[in-house]
Amino acid sequence: MSGAMQARVYLDYNATAPVRPQARAAVLRALELGGNPSSVHAAGRAARALVEEARAEVAGLIGAPAADLVFTSGGTEANALAIESAVAAGSRQLIVSAIEHDSVQETARAQGVAVEVLPVDRNGVADLDWLAARLARWGAADGRPFVALMLANNETGIIQPVAEAAALVRDAGGWLHVDAVQAAGKIPVDFSALGADTLAVSGHKLGGPQGAGALAFGRRAVLSRRQHGGGQERGRRGGTENVSGISGFGAVAEASRELREAHGLVRNQAWRDAAAERLKRAGAVVMGEAAPRLANTLCVATPGFPSDLQVMALDLAGVMVSAGAACSSGKVKASPVLAAMGHGDLAGCGIRVSGGWATTEADWNRFTDAWFEAFQRHAARRTPAPAGA
Ligand code: PLP
Repeated sequence: MSGAMQARVYLDYNATAPVRPQARAAVLRALELGGNPSSVHAAGRAARALVEEARAEVAGLIGAPAADLVFTSGGTEANALAIESAVAAGSRQLIVSAIEHDSVQETARAQGVAVEVLPVDRNGVADLDWLAARLARWGAADGRPFVALMLANNETGIIQPVAEAAALVRDAGGWLHVDAVQAAGKIPVDFSALGADTLAVSGHKLGGPQGAGALAFGRRAVLSRRQHGGGQERGRRGGTENVSGISGFGAVAEASRELREAHGLVRNQAWRDAAAERLKRAGAVVMGEAAPRLANTLCVATPGFPSDLQVMALDLAGVMVSAGAACSSGKVKASPVLAAMGHGDLAGCGIRVSGGWATTEADWNRFTDAWFEAFQRHAARRTPAPAGA
């Protein structure tokens, strides 16, 4: 079969996972049902039931009480709700890990208070000695300590020591916010056991529709009202609920809980590792190889082979990966995450390959084959032909 005839291969689940059939069915059901959850009549009550069913499923996925979950428009809003609430409650100094998603970094920097960076080591793991030392000299003028540390990084898949960080933050009387957008549905997440104060999730990263997320909050978190309106979400977020999106999120949360093994993430690990071994033979460097990582994610940097060339060559070959975090401009920028890990020299040469529930071994093989072809073409262009050849 010619390359042009082959189906495209999607290996960018960390940007958005393909919608799972359960989510699609739940979205359609909610759309067909109609009704506003705030209405007291039968249609309204039916819509309300869908929202509350979904709340229980999403809460179950992350080990949080359903009553302590606010639905949002996605991970970005959930992160913003946590950060803005902390500042409104008196935090004057925010600590944000160096590898946080832009929705955390940018929101923190937009608050008009000081922001400090929690560094990571070369394996991409947060430096908790730094955190302990910083919290030990916290001043009263800084208000309540606020720390944002994600559970799994979107570019590298590296899993962070969140429970340990939570213990440090709790001892300092602070607020730990955890962005679990990439972790939920990929590894077990237990909000209560982690000891975090707030935790953000997003449906489209696990095969739900885009535009539905949630924030779980504990007893020590004081949430402020981000949107005023009709008192929805117990007054925490005004506006008619995105019933179909929330319903799809609930369905995928349920499926992810029940089918975590079967939906392909664990299988992805062996295929991902086989791909990584092949790329390493060409000089590629796997990011965070020595750290615990999500089974579906490969972040690999190849000296002298720019990210954008890799992504474009792979796309032409029908294989979709990304150069790191997808950014709305569609532009490829050098990865601040790799730079924070001390791999600044490779920050413009990394790609992120991420599989998921529908990924097959053949998909990973197509990626590896296409990558090698692109690599060899690039190497040949860089090596001038000998004179007279
Ligand atoms: N946090 C992380 C770690 C992410 O990977 C993303 C999405 O790229 C977000 C937050 C934002 O989530 P959403 O797209 O639902 O706003």
